[in-house]
Amino acid sequence: MRKQYPCVEVDLSKITYNAKQILSMCKNKGIDVVGVTKVFCAEIPIINALLQAGFTHVGDSRVQNLKKMEQINCKKMLLRISMESEAEQVIKYSDVSLNSELKTIKILSQKAKEVNRTHNIILMVDIGDLREGVLIKDVLGIVKEIMNLQHIKLVGLGTNVTCYGGVIPDRDNLMKLVNLRSEIKNLYKLDLPIISGGNSSSLYLVMNGSIPKEINQLRVGEGIILGRETSFGGPIPNCYDDAFILKGEIVEIKDKPTVPTGKIGMDAFGNKPHFQDKGIRKRAIVAVGRQDIKVDGLFPLDKNISIFGASSDHLLLDVTDSASPLKVGDIVEFKMDYGCVLASMTSNYVKKYYEKQPEYSLVNC
Ligand SMILES: *Cc1c(COP(=O)(O)O)cnc(C)c1O
Repeated sequence: MRKQYPCVEVDLSKITYNAKQILSMCKNKGIDVVGVTKVFCAEIPIINALLQAGFTHVGDSRVQNLKKMEQINCKKMLLRISMESEAEQVIKYSDVSLNSELKTIKILSQKAKEVNRTHNIILMVDIGDLREGVLIKDVLGIVKEIMNLQHIKLVGLGTNVTCYGGVIPDRDNLMKLVNLRSEIKNLYKLDLPIISGGNSSSLYLVMNGSIPKEINQLRVGEGIILGRETSFGGPIPNCYDDAFILKGEIVEIKDKPTVPTGKIGMDAFGNKPHFQDKGIRKRAIVAVGRQDIKVDGLFPLDKNISIFGASSDHLLLDVTDSASPLKVGDIVEFKMDYGCVLASMTSNYVKKYYEKQPEYSLVNC
């Protein structure tokens, strides 16, 4: 069958392989890993690749995505702070949710009561990144209030860093969670089993052995998908960075100058473009654009191809030095960064194909 373009090809055996590496690396330190599915829109074949690696717990930021995986037999975590307006679905589709607002937690308790359930929550604490979470000074007060709610069970403390403020997790800031848990135990005789110490940016602490031993959960997306920790962007040993490949089709190839002719105004996105004169180059247009991808997150597999730029639907490449001569109808392949995987997996115009290579890479890690 002829493929449709643009498309993302996902190599599921590479996902399973990465997932196993990360799972075993964390298990050695007593850490459970929640597999984060939002970047690939909770596509079921990819979730299955995680489960095949041994994952028993997945998380997504959107209730719609958790609903999509209703039939999948594993624990589900809602990652984005619950919306009041979705409280009913949060109870229905998640086993545990991350929360930071007492008002919403009370509504969750009410909705859980209506269906005669107890809902587990992790209280998010802001240790400096200024995205979600209760400020440290307010934690004890809110915990006391949560303990009064009949249908809510507080199972842990969590934090998220490196997402907004770029704050890097380290022993110092993660120990704040550990100390809070001790205070809660001393003051309220409440034992919180889980300390959820962040996302892929915390993996470097696992790799260098300095993660506090009390941290027993991480929520990992990018690490599995792209084989990188995200504090410094370093590779995770023995992981693939090319499980997701974007492929696009060339619709025009012509030798043209590198500087436009005429007065330069705004481009389609309101920016004033600048051009470096490299003379006449062989330019290819690939039928994919900013509606589907993040241009600076695309990396041609052929290192001799470079990217001029893109508009909504057209990606402009310099293919003068390409490894093999290209023509109209040829397919160009790219690796992607996180933002580009997110955009392409979310775009309805990009077809998704799941490839399963032979079992060679499914060895035990
Ligand atoms: C997205 C997200 C994660 C996973 O982040 P990665 O950098 O992909 O590992 C973890 N926790 C929360 C709350 C998130 O929103």
